Amino acid sequence: MGKLDHLWTLQCIDSRERDLRRELETLGIKREIEELEARLAEKHRELLELSRRLQEVQRGIKEGEFAAGENERKQRELEKRLYSGSTSSARELSQMERKMVTLKEEAGDLEEGILALLLEQESLEKEEEGLRAILQELAAELAEKQAVYAREAGELEEELEFLPAEREKLLPGIEEELLLLYQELSASKRGQAVAAVRGDLCLGCRISLPTNIVSLIITNEHLHTCPNCGRILYYLGTK
Ligand SMILES: [Zn+2]
Repeated sequence: MGKLDHLWTLQCIDSRERDLRRELETLGIKREIEELEARLAEKHRELLELSRRLQEVQRGIKEGEFAAGENERKQRELEKRLYSGSTSSARELSQMERKMVTLKEEAGDLEEGILALLLEQESLEKEEEGLRAILQELAAELAEKQAVYAREAGELEEELEFLPAEREKLLPGIEEELLLLYQELSASKRGQAVAAVRGDLCLGCRISLPTNIVSLIITNEHLHTCPNCGRILYYLGTK
Protein backbone atom coordinates (compact mmCIF):
# COMPACT_ATOMS: atom_id res chain seq x y z
CA MET A 1 0.00 0.00 0.00
CA GLY A 2 1.32 3.39 -0.98
CA LYS A 3 1.36 6.33 1.32
CA LEU A 4 -1.39 8.01 -0.67
CA ASP A 5 -3.79 5.06 -0.74
CA HIS A 6 -5.63 6.08 2.43
CA LEU A 7 -5.86 9.62 1.15
CA TRP A 8 -7.40 8.40 -2.08
CA THR A 9 -9.93 6.30 -0.15
CA LEU A 10 -10.71 9.37 1.93
CA GLN A 11 -11.32 11.32 -1.25
CA CYS A 12 -13.64 8.59 -2.52
CA ILE A 13 -15.63 8.63 0.73
CA ASP A 14 -15.92 12.42 0.75
CA SER A 15 -16.95 12.50 -2.90
CA ARG A 16 -19.51 9.80 -2.29
CA GLU A 17 -20.93 11.72 0.64
CA ARG A 18 -21.19 14.86 -1.46
CA ASP A 19 -22.91 12.95 -4.27
CA LEU A 20 -25.35 11.31 -1.87
CA ARG A 21 -26.27 14.63 -0.30
CA ARG A 22 -26.78 16.17 -3.72
CA GLU A 23 -28.90 13.21 -4.77
CA LEU A 24 -31.03 13.58 -1.63
CA GLU A 25 -31.49 17.25 -2.36
CA THR A 26 -32.53 16.71 -5.93
CA LEU A 27 -34.78 13.67 -5.58
CA GLY A 28 -37.51 14.45 -8.11
CA ILE A 29 -40.18 13.19 -5.77
CA LYS A 30 -39.24 15.87 -3.26
CA ARG A 31 -40.37 18.65 -5.57
CA GLU A 32 -43.58 16.76 -6.36
CA ILE A 33 -44.24 16.51 -2.63
CA GLU A 34 -43.66 20.23 -2.15
CA GLU A 35 -46.05 21.03 -4.98
CA LEU A 36 -48.69 18.74 -3.55
CA GLU A 37 -48.30 20.25 -0.10
CA ALA A 38 -48.78 23.71 -1.57
CA ARG A 39 -51.94 22.62 -3.39
CA LEU A 40 -53.27 20.97 -0.25
CA ALA A 41 -52.67 24.13 1.77
CA GLU A 42 -54.45 26.20 -0.86
CA LYS A 43 -57.48 23.88 -0.88
CA HIS A 44 -57.54 23.95 2.92
CA ARG A 45 -57.68 27.72 2.81
CA GLU A 46 -60.52 27.56 0.27
CA LEU A 47 -62.41 25.15 2.48
CA LEU A 48 -61.95 27.39 5.49
CA GLU A 49 -63.29 30.39 3.62
CA LEU A 50 -66.20 28.38 2.31
CA SER A 51 -67.08 27.06 5.77
CA ARG A 52 -67.03 30.60 7.10
CA ARG A 53 -69.40 31.79 4.39
CA LEU A 54 -71.63 28.77 5.00
CA GLN A 55 -71.85 29.60 8.70
CA GLU A 56 -72.73 33.19 7.85
CA VAL A 57 -75.48 32.00 5.51
CA GLN A 58 -76.84 29.58 8.11
CA ARG A 59 -76.86 32.35 10.69
CA GLY A 60 -78.68 34.56 8.19
CA ILE A 61 -81.31 31.86 7.62
CA LYS A 62 -81.90 31.47 11.37
CA GLU A 63 -82.20 35.20 11.86
CA GLY A 64 -84.56 35.45 8.87
CA GLU A 65 -86.71 32.61 10.20
CA PHE A 66 -86.84 34.22 13.62
CA ALA A 67 -87.87 37.56 12.11
CA ALA A 68 -90.50 35.81 9.98
CA GLY A 69 -91.88 34.16 13.12
CA GLU A 70 -92.04 37.50 14.88
CA ASN A 71 -93.75 39.03 11.86
CA GLU A 72 -96.34 36.23 11.82
CA ARG A 73 -97.01 36.69 15.52
CA LYS A 74 -97.54 40.43 15.01
CA GLN A 75 -99.89 39.78 12.09
CA ARG A 76 -101.99 37.37 14.17
CA GLU A 77 -102.23 39.83 17.04
CA LEU A 78 -103.20 42.62 14.71
CA GLU A 79 -105.77 40.40 13.01
CA LYS A 80 -107.27 39.56 16.38
CA ARG A 81 -107.59 43.26 17.24
CA LEU A 82 -108.95 44.10 13.80
CA TYR A 83 -111.73 41.52 13.85
CA SER A 84 -112.51 41.42 17.55
CA GLY A 85 -114.69 44.48 17.24
CA SER A 86 -112.92 46.11 20.18
CA THR A 87 -112.14 49.16 18.09
CA SER A 88 -114.75 51.13 16.28
CA SER A 89 -112.66 54.22 15.57
CA ALA A 90 -112.30 54.50 11.79
CA ARG A 91 -108.95 56.24 12.16
CA GLU A 92 -107.55 53.50 14.37
CA LEU A 93 -108.92 50.80 12.10
CA SER A 94 -107.29 52.30 9.01
CA GLN A 95 -104.04 52.67 10.96
CA MET A 96 -104.18 48.99 11.81
CA GLU A 97 -104.90 48.10 8.21
CA ARG A 98 -101.91 50.12 7.04
CA LYS A 99 -99.77 48.37 9.63
CA MET A 100 -101.02 45.02 8.33
CA VAL A 101 -100.00 45.93 4.79
CA THR A 102 -96.52 46.88 5.99
CA LEU A 103 -96.21 43.61 7.94
CA LYS A 104 -97.24 41.56 4.90
CA GLU A 105 -94.71 43.40 2.75
CA GLU A 106 -92.02 42.74 5.31
CA ALA A 107 -93.01 39.07 5.43
CA GLY A 108 -92.64 38.86 1.64
CA ASP A 109 -89.16 40.42 1.77
CA LEU A 110 -88.12 38.10 4.58
CA GLU A 111 -89.34 35.07 2.67
CA GLU A 112 -87.44 36.15 -0.44
CA GLY A 113 -84.28 36.72 1.59
CA ILE A 114 -84.54 33.33 3.27
CA LEU A 115 -85.12 31.60 -0.05
CA ALA A 116 -82.02 33.23 -1.57
CA LEU A 117 -79.95 32.18 1.45
CA LEU A 118 -81.31 28.63 1.29
CA LEU A 119 -80.27 28.41 -2.36
CA GLU A 120 -76.81 29.75 -1.51
CA GLN A 121 -76.56 27.26 1.34
CA GLU A 122 -77.34 24.42 -1.02
CA SER A 123 -74.71 25.47 -3.54
CA LEU A 124 -72.11 26.10 -0.81
CA GLU A 125 -72.74 22.66 0.67
CA LYS A 126 -72.23 21.09 -2.75
CA GLU A 127 -69.03 23.06 -3.21
CA GLU A 128 -67.86 22.02 0.24
CA GLU A 129 -68.49 18.39 -0.54
CA GLY A 130 -66.46 18.69 -3.75
CA LEU A 131 -63.60 20.39 -1.95
CA ARG A 132 -63.51 17.71 0.73
CA ALA A 133 -63.30 15.03 -1.96
CA ILE A 134 -60.41 16.87 -3.64
CA LEU A 135 -58.63 17.25 -0.32
CA GLN A 136 -59.01 13.56 0.36
CA GLU A 137 -57.59 12.69 -3.05
CA LEU A 138 -54.65 15.07 -2.60
CA ALA A 139 -53.92 13.71 0.87
CA ALA A 140 -53.88 10.15 -0.46
CA GLU A 141 -51.58 11.17 -3.31
CA LEU A 142 -49.29 12.93 -0.86
CA ALA A 143 -49.10 9.92 1.45
CA GLU A 144 -48.19 7.76 -1.54
CA LYS A 145 -45.42 10.11 -2.65
CA GLN A 146 -44.12 10.45 0.89
CA ALA A 147 -43.82 6.69 1.06
CA VAL A 148 -41.84 6.66 -2.19
CA TYR A 149 -39.64 9.46 -0.86
CA ALA A 150 -39.02 7.63 2.40
CA ARG A 151 -37.98 4.56 0.46
CA GLU A 152 -35.69 6.41 -1.97
CA ALA A 153 -34.23 8.73 0.63
CA GLY A 154 -33.95 5.88 3.12
CA GLU A 155 -31.52 4.00 0.91
CA LEU A 156 -29.37 7.11 0.42
CA GLU A 157 -29.52 8.02 4.10
CA GLU A 158 -28.58 4.52 5.10
CA GLU A 159 -25.42 4.75 3.01
CA LEU A 160 -24.71 8.25 4.31
CA GLU A 161 -24.96 7.03 7.85
CA PHE A 162 -22.02 4.68 7.78
CA LEU A 163 -19.65 6.96 5.84
CA PRO A 164 -18.42 9.01 8.85
CA ALA A 165 -17.27 5.85 10.66
CA GLU A 166 -15.42 4.69 7.55
CA ARG A 167 -13.80 8.11 7.37
CA GLU A 168 -12.77 8.05 11.03
CA LYS A 169 -11.05 4.70 10.56
CA LEU A 170 -8.90 6.11 7.78
CA LEU A 171 -7.64 9.24 9.48
CA PRO A 172 -4.96 7.69 11.75
CA GLY A 173 -3.31 6.17 8.67
CA ILE A 174 -2.78 9.55 7.00
CA GLU A 175 0.11 11.87 7.81
CA GLU A 176 -1.04 15.07 9.41
CA GLU A 177 0.68 17.31 6.86
CA LEU A 178 -0.96 15.42 4.04
CA LEU A 179 -4.33 15.69 5.72
CA LEU A 180 -3.94 19.44 6.14
CA LEU A 181 -3.09 19.86 2.48
CA TYR A 182 -6.07 17.69 1.62
CA GLN A 183 -8.41 19.85 3.67
CA GLU A 184 -7.00 23.02 2.18
CA LEU A 185 -7.36 21.78 -1.38
CA SER A 186 -10.79 20.35 -0.62
CA ALA A 187 -11.98 23.78 0.40
CA SER A 188 -10.51 25.57 -2.60
CA LYS A 189 -11.33 22.94 -5.24
CA ARG A 190 -14.95 22.20 -4.50
CA GLY A 191 -14.24 19.02 -2.56
CA GLN A 192 -11.88 17.45 -5.06
CA ALA A 193 -8.43 17.56 -3.46
CA VAL A 194 -7.06 14.39 -4.97
CA ALA A 195 -7.04 13.87 -8.73
CA ALA A 196 -6.82 10.40 -10.19
CA VAL A 197 -4.31 9.85 -12.97
CA ARG A 198 -4.93 7.37 -15.78
CA GLY A 199 -2.04 6.84 -18.14
CA ASP A 200 -0.64 10.34 -18.19
CA LEU A 201 -3.98 12.12 -17.87
CA CYS A 202 -4.85 14.14 -14.76
CA LEU A 203 -8.58 13.49 -14.35
CA GLY A 204 -8.87 16.60 -12.22
CA CYS A 205 -8.21 18.96 -15.12
CA ARG A 206 -7.81 16.63 -18.14
CA ILE A 207 -4.29 17.66 -19.09
CA SER A 208 -1.50 15.24 -20.00
CA LEU A 209 1.20 15.17 -17.35
CA PRO A 210 4.90 15.21 -18.22
CA THR A 211 6.38 11.71 -18.30
CA ASN A 212 8.78 12.45 -15.46
CA ILE A 213 5.89 13.28 -13.13
CA VAL A 214 4.01 10.12 -14.09
CA SER A 215 7.05 8.00 -13.35
CA LEU A 216 7.32 9.66 -9.93
CA ILE A 217 3.72 9.03 -8.89
CA ILE A 218 3.31 5.47 -10.11
CA THR A 219 3.98 3.96 -6.65
CA ASN A 220 1.63 6.41 -4.90
CA GLU A 221 4.32 6.74 -2.25
CA HIS A 222 5.26 10.38 -2.81
CA LEU A 223 3.27 13.56 -2.73
CA HIS A 224 3.09 15.34 -6.07
CA THR A 225 0.55 17.85 -7.24
CA CYS A 226 -0.70 18.52 -10.74
CA PRO A 227 1.28 21.43 -12.27
CA ASN A 228 -1.97 22.65 -13.85
CA CYS A 229 -4.79 22.22 -11.29
CA GLY A 230 -2.71 21.84 -8.14
CA ARG A 231 -4.48 18.70 -6.92
CA ILE A 232 -2.69 15.83 -5.21
CA LEU A 233 -2.06 13.19 -7.85
CA TYR A 234 -3.07 9.58 -7.34
CA TYR A 235 -2.05 7.04 -9.95
CA LEU A 236 -4.84 4.64 -10.89
CA GLY A 237 -3.18 2.73 -13.76
CA THR A 238 -2.73 2.91 -17.47
CA LYS A 239 -6.38 2.50 -18.44
ZN1 LIG B 1 -4.69 18.50 -12.94
